[in-house]
Amino acid sequence: ATPTAIMVGTGLGAKRGVLFKNATALETSARIDTVILDKTGTLTKGEPEVTDFIAHGIGEDVLLALVAAVERESEHPLAGAVVNYAVARGVSSLDASSFRNVPGHGAGATVDGRRVLVGNRKLMIAEGVDIAPIAEQRETLASTGRTAVLVAVDGRAAGVIALADAARETAAPAVAALHEAGIEVVMLTGDNEATARRIAAQLGIDTVIAEVLPEDKSAKVTELQKAGKRVAMVGDGVNDAPALAQADLGIAIGAGTDVAIETADVVLMRSDPLDVPTALRIGKGTVRKMR
Ligand code: ADP
Ligand code: MG
Repeated sequence: ATPTAIMVGTGLGAKRGVLFKNATALETSARIDTVILDKTGTLTKGEPEVTDFIAHGIGEDVLLALVAAVERESEHPLAGAVVNYAVARGVSSLDASSFRNVPGHGAGATVDGRRVLVGNRKLMIAEGVDIAPIAEQRETLASTGRTAVLVAVDGRAAGVIALADAARETAAPAVAALHEAGIEVVMLTGDNEATARRIAAQLGIDTVIAEVLPEDKSAKVTELQKAGKRVAMVGDGVNDAPALAQADLGIAIGAGTDVAIETADVVLMRSDPLDVPTALRIGKGTVRKMR
């Protein structure tokens, strides 16, 4: 593109808080045909809240105290929500030892002499926990679009925690605008399939890639590229950085982590999903001017 077109495009973006890091970013924006969006923190606000807490074969407050002790050691956004919930319910605070974080799965620790695990189905299976006693509750909660987290105490299924993370107000309009521009939209998430599908349906997204481990997100981008797609990846998390780097165009949510912002080619300062179609439109305008 001509230096003038680049300057105009960069300026137009800056006005809306869409920061193109360089001329290549602007030119690539014009050629994107597939947009992959991370769910948590990108399509949703990334501020989960506990909506349901179900104990199985153990007192609710006892279980909540055990779980909160584990989650206090974790930096995961879901962990913060569980801790806030425990504080609001006024349960006693216990100490955790031998804490272990399992990326994309959950966490575990020893509390009050008991081994407590908090995380998804994959974690429970890996640890040999029989989840049959809580499977039905898990499915019911997940089918409503809430994230269902499982709890085990000393190797036994002990409860289900449901967390809701509201979609950003402009997530659905952003998906509609991308579809109108003829762009394919894909949701990519570590969350479980049922939860992801439900939220995708609410937002008008028909392609969902769920239960993806943090280290596998960039491989999913590569798969689409090998199928001939020109891919933009939109994300906010540390988990998303390799995928942002792998994509033809990496777009970071401004409210996201530093690593995501540093890795991306474009930063959306207002953290507004509607600025994704805006960025692509500005790119197209810029390239048109150069011809
Ligand atoms: P996302 O891509 O949605 O940000 P992650 O890859 O971070 O998800 O985690 C995937 C899943 O692992 C979560 O949806 C949750 O079920 C489980 N998980 C991970 N860490 C924790 C934790 N500290 N507490 C409870 N659940 C967790
Ligand atoms: Mg995220």
